Amino acid sequence: MGKLSGKTALVTGSSRGIGRATAIRLAAEGALVAVHYASNSEAAEEVVATIEKDGGRAFPVRAELGSQGDVHDLFFGLEQGLKERTGSTDLDILVNNAGVMGGVPPEEVTPDQFDRLYAVNVKAPFFIVQRALSNLVDGGRIVNISSGLTRFANPQEVAYAMTKGAVDQLTMHYAKHLGSRGITVNSVGPGITNNGGPLFDNPEAVRQMASLSVFNRVGEGSDIADVVAFLAGEDGRWITGSYLDASGGTLLG
Ligand code: NDP
Repeated sequence: MGKLSGKTALVTGSSRGIGRATAIRLAAEGALVAVHYASNSEAAEEVVATIEKDGGRAFPVRAELGSQGDVHDLFFGLEQGLKERTGSTDLDILVNNAGVMGGVPPEEVTPDQFDRLYAVNVKAPFFIVQRALSNLVDGGRIVNISSGLTRFANPQEVAYAMTKGAVDQLTMHYAKHLGSRGITVNSVGPGITNNGGPLFDNPEAVRQMASLSVFNRVGEGSDIADVVAFLAGEDGRWITGSYLDASGGTLLG
């Protein structure tokens, strides 16, 4: 029996990348996982099929975060999926993973780009947590995917890094707020992690990115997923309000 047997989990943005690896990992531990995505339904279905092939349980949920009615759509699909499979809408584990990157020089960031980053990376997780409070069971888990860029300067990502700084604030304040219910709230900060994007097909780019880690490789989704699974399980019960550096030593300088 897995460590998360009988638990339910929502992983936002789990059709690809770190979220995909996290959904597969939580399901492998026995959790029923809601695989959330924005538009790539084929990718989300592939994640569900991968989980089911290995004997796990999952279902897809679509919601475009950062658009009108996003949190409503997300919880409509989530609650329907949970109810059908468990008879209740209880949620044990919430992983706020979906996010958009910047990659724009600071002088060129437009107000629209800034608003989009905040809408998806900050506003959506805030209102997802707020909405999830009635579903989350006492003793539940919230894991927010932050970034090493909250502690490692890269001017090309200043606006994006600001959004992840806000995510860390969400973690800290909610950790205190939810402690009386035994719910832990933590941030996990990946370094550069292979999300299957085209950049990771370029050997020279990968070599440069790998050199930032003391292990001289880029992270894999599973490196982050294992940290999330630890926090999501019973072993993580005494950690709350923390930022877990999952950057392969990138922050050591
Ligand atoms: P990917 O770009 O590979 O995947 C993004 C996921 O989020 C997809 O499932 C996508 O769905 C979903 N998504 C994107 N935008 C929206 C939206 N507006 N509404 C709903 N879903 C959305 O992401 P990564 O795996 O690279 O990153 C995951 C998290 O980790 C992010 O928060 C990112 O900031 C953070 N991070 C990543 C690092 C890295 O090097 N990869 C480093 C540090 C932090 P769909 O498939 O439908 O588009």
